[in-house]
Amino acid sequence: MTGLKKTIIRTGLETLYFSGAHVMMRPFVSGLGAILTLHHVRPARPDRFQPNRLLEVTPDFLESVLRYLRRAGFALVSLDEMHQRLIEEDFRQRFVCITIDDGYRDTLQCAYPILKREQVPFAVFIPTSFPDRLGELWWLALEAVVARNEHISILVNGEEQSLECRTLADKVHAYDQLYGWIRSFATEDELRNVVRDLSARYQVDIAAFCDDLCMNWEELTELAADPLVTIGAHTVNHVMLAKVSEQVARSEMAMSRAVIEASLGVRPDHLSYPVGDKTSAGPREFRIAAALGFKTAVTTRPGVLFASHRDHLTALPRISLNGEHQQLRYVRVLLSGAATAVWNGFQQVDAA
Ligand SMILES: [Zn+2]
Repeated sequence: MTGLKKTIIRTGLETLYFSGAHVMMRPFVSGLGAILTLHHVRPARPDRFQPNRLLEVTPDFLESVLRYLRRAGFALVSLDEMHQRLIEEDFRQRFVCITIDDGYRDTLQCAYPILKREQVPFAVFIPTSFPDRLGELWWLALEAVVARNEHISILVNGEEQSLECRTLADKVHAYDQLYGWIRSFATEDELRNVVRDLSARYQVDIAAFCDDLCMNWEELTELAADPLVTIGAHTVNHVMLAKVSEQVARSEMAMSRAVIEASLGVRPDHLSYPVGDKTSAGPREFRIAAALGFKTAVTTRPGVLFASHRDHLTALPRISLNGEHQQLRYVRVLLSGAATAVWNGFQQVDAA
């Protein structure tokens, strides 16, 4: 995320918090509850260059969020329980679901002990190529290329371009440039090809990230045995589904469910769209997920849940616990619905 964007988000959250506006707006915009998104939960690292830091929070922060949620009277429920409450219109108590994407090993090592001790149900969304050790965590490969080199050359539209990566500021700029460029591609294939090419040029072993960072099937079996844990599907190859053909999108969703069922003996009823923003999941994906029989599917479109989401169960918004903003007051503002209401133009459901 660019520095400017971070500042705008932070300033907006601070303004809503310190002006008290989020308290005044809460009765109108807070909805029924929310689904929280986490990725890594692990101790803070000292590295100065951490372009993916938004994807990780510390165990201490997770603990303080859980304590706050209990204090504030939220019911902490599973996705099945949330689904039931939505379809039965049981809105007596505001609720929060905890979801953790990608199946990193720190989910088992750092998040699980806390959630277990607090008896909090949670869902883990697994891209099956990660435990199969065939996954490409391309955003980490990109980070490694920029971190380990002082200079990068890359082919853009057939022309050799070069990027300086000497200082921290150079690296932040180079990463933002590269990330923005590859996210603008129309297809997932183009993105993967550029990252594979860069990784080969600069000797970054993409496959190694799976082994280093992601749970294997044994570890997932251990986690899945706990009734607190819901295992959800997150496609096979962690693809941005809107950037592949309809046939591939459908098979990515269906295959990941079949592989999880075969490996863990549980058939996932819930799906998380990889990346999950508007460029990676839209009406076509919402329709396919519903047709495949998923009870719910979650995006990363920001928002809290309203009664009207009952009719859009495969297009649910979530609220990300962003590692760049690890302050309880931001969580309070986000769960008040005030920030997301402003970002969404006060529209409750965004399924278009
Ligand atoms: Zn993911």
